Amino acid sequence: MGKALIIGAGGVAGVVIHKCCQNPEVFSEIMIASRTKSKCDAFKEKLDGDATVIHTAQVDADNCAELIELINEFKPEIVINVALPYQDLTIMDACLATGTHYLDTANYEPPDNPKFEYKWQWAYREKFEQAGLCAILGCGFDPGVTGVFCAYAQKHYFDEIHTVDILDANGGDHGYPFATNFNPEINIREITANGRFWRDGQWIETKPLEIKRVFDFDGIGSKEAYLLYHEELESLAKNIRGLEQIRFFMTFSQNYINHLTVLQNVGMTSIEPIDFEGKKIQPLQFLKAVLPDPASLGPRTRGKTNIGCICRGVKDGKPAAYYVYNICDHQECYREVGSQAISYTTGVPAMIGAKLLLQGVWKKAGVYNVEEFDPDPFMQELNGQGLPWQENFNPASVE
Ligand code: NDP
Repeated sequence: MGKALIIGAGGVAGVVIHKCCQNPEVFSEIMIASRTKSKCDAFKEKLDGDATVIHTAQVDADNCAELIELINEFKPEIVINVALPYQDLTIMDACLATGTHYLDTANYEPPDNPKFEYKWQWAYREKFEQAGLCAILGCGFDPGVTGVFCAYAQKHYFDEIHTVDILDANGGDHGYPFATNFNPEINIREITANGRFWRDGQWIETKPLEIKRVFDFDGIGSKEAYLLYHEELESLAKNIRGLEQIRFFMTFSQNYINHLTVLQNVGMTSIEPIDFEGKKIQPLQFLKAVLPDPASLGPRTRGKTNIGCICRGVKDGKPAAYYVYNICDHQECYREVGSQAISYTTGVPAMIGAKLLLQGVWKKAGVYNVEEFDPDPFMQELNGQGLPWQENFNPASVE
């Protein structure tokens, strides 16, 4: 039925590719295009023979002209961007130039300024509207499913949601002393930045990892979770009615924090280029080169993730609470698609968003965050595509 161009061939892309092939009635043809073509070819080799026809190509997604040429050649209905956030704007420009819908899982970041903000991509709203094209932003798990969870809570269980706590726990163990579960550069930049949350119409800033809570996660147990800034806070603060406070917490082990602290103290997490033997290198990019490739963690990682949202507010004049979450098992993901749960929980929602767009269920002209669509068809797909969710109407407090 539909043709999709998938850009990127990393951990998340691998899951998107497998999942598109599991839904051939929607994804009849896909093209995998990335910087390193051999990685695209490896996926094709593994999955060729399934009902979905697979093509591969080399592309530099920082180069808009190259993207336009590729899109004009393949003529996809949608581009699924699972490269890096630095490529979001060139890919959106190429979509506008070729009349193609767009979806991504992370908001644009200028490479030299680690700042998560939707302003650059929201600025494309009118252009996409005028072109009659749909751009779906942040359609992974967080951002992504967390926004759909909030929209679902708002639609079914609240007149007004007053507070949201997004809780992201990873109880997985890969056996390495230190490794990041997705692109190390993006991951470390996220964690070493100041924390921030939204209360009473204002952003409140904290030092990195300054606020810690202990929470008992279903399927995982008790874990220390740290307050971080996360990009969905910006769109949800705008799109959830009556919201007074929204925060995001992610779990890290003491071991992870110790390693990160040392790396930071010796300057290895810096993005400022330094001179090294007559060459300019960025310490964080060098660190990425010596750390284990996140795509290689799949076979080694055991344990589960639990990611969800606790919403509190009012329904019919009475206080109401609702906790909706997904538990995902690293080894089950590996058995199904050959990757760990972090890539799985990001890639499955990206495929679902693209599927709903191609089916015309989630399709409107403009640039949208996921909570601006009807959550029900997405929630139903999550149950069928490997990310079932659970509900609790009497959740523990995060305070
Ligand atoms: P990886 O580093 O594993 O993969 C990124 C891929 O993009 C690589 O194949 C890389 O090529 C390719 N790439 C990078 N630059 C270019 C370029 N200029 N042109 C073409 N291809 C390029 O990252 P992940 O798969 O872990 O993450 C992918 C995306 O998903 C990121 O944007 C990340 O922020 C996002 N994410 C979102 C989450 C969510 O829940 N919303 C959670 C986790 C990740 P090469 O192979 O040559 O390096």
